[in-house]
Amino acid sequence: MLMVVIQSQHMDEDHKTIIANITWNPDGWRNTRKFYINPHAGHRYVRKYPGHESLNYYFDKPFDTNEDIYGYVQWAKTPKNLADGAVMIFYSTDIEHAGHKGKIIGIYGNVKLVDPVKRIPYEGFEKDELLSNITAKRNLSFLFPIYLDAKKYSQNGKRLVPQVGYTYRNISFAEQVVVDEINVLKQGGIRIEEYNKLKDIYFFITGKKYADTQDIQDEQEQKELDSIESTRSIKEIINELKQVTPQTPELVETHGKIYKRDNKSVVDIKIVRGKKCQICGTFILTKDNKHYVEAAHIKPKRDKGPETFDNIIVLCPNHHKEFDYGATVIISQDEENITFEMNGISYTVRLALD
Ligand SMILES: [Zn+2]
Repeated sequence: MLMVVIQSQHMDEDHKTIIANITWNPDGWRNTRKFYINPHAGHRYVRKYPGHESLNYYFDKPFDTNEDIYGYVQWAKTPKNLADGAVMIFYSTDIEHAGHKGKIIGIYGNVKLVDPVKRIPYEGFEKDELLSNITAKRNLSFLFPIYLDAKKYSQNGKRLVPQVGYTYRNISFAEQVVVDEINVLKQGGIRIEEYNKLKDIYFFITGKKYADTQDIQDEQEQKELDSIESTRSIKEIINELKQVTPQTPELVETHGKIYKRDNKSVVDIKIVRGKKCQICGTFILTKDNKHYVEAAHIKPKRDKGPETFDNIIVLCPNHHKEFDYGATVIISQDEENITFEMNGISYTVRLALD
């Protein structure tokens, strides 16, 4: 549900978008519960206590509410001109990888500065206090599943934001970042919750609805097909899948409705392969008690890789993203199996439908 108030026109246009620099966290900002302590830090304090910035994407702090989350940015000077309800883009230099690459790692929507407040006693930060100096809306704040390369957004090759600081940018910058994140996620198959959140953020930024795309319609159609109780046996499904060729009609009818053949094939392949990851055997159990797994294209969809059983393997979300974004090399492939190396580890996965 969309619960967004469009900003007043009186808002200060020049100070609506801010890029905030936060220190790289080698957990990639994901392991937020284990607050990050930097053993290599220049000053002794952060070699002993967690940095506040590791709390920016941990939304279950005692003072976070259903609506509001609290974060922290260390800046040399408070950005006093920041408009209420601004958009904050988080920038971080990736010190774990060669070249100290700058990444855009996430976003906060409807940001307000709060006086650095001591919230609760906390075993950690200076004087055992948990501090916060920004607040934002939970439903508009998101840690990007895939970080964006900051270089793309630099002006005249300069880094986006100084060491301990921030940079104001036009609101169109925030719009571009959100669109880019949607597009990069789509290449590997965006999840519906991720997409909905980014759409809400897009609406907050622009006041416009993000246009639905074919990929998402496909995901929704697959969800619907999956929920239709299949009356076919595995043998029948296998026979149907074996008959699918690029020449098969693109639309098929089942349960009295027309669906795209490709979407039906993806669902059928998942059923035949047992709805579990072909690498690690896991799946995500959804709240309606279904097995969530993803279909990875061996030849990518963007290169016109078909939705046929010899081009689709079933993976958990982690392995799917690793397959698409890790260093993946196909060693061999025949009608029975595919063998590939992914980030230095070799896997053989069955393609045949028996
Ligand atoms: Zn897996």
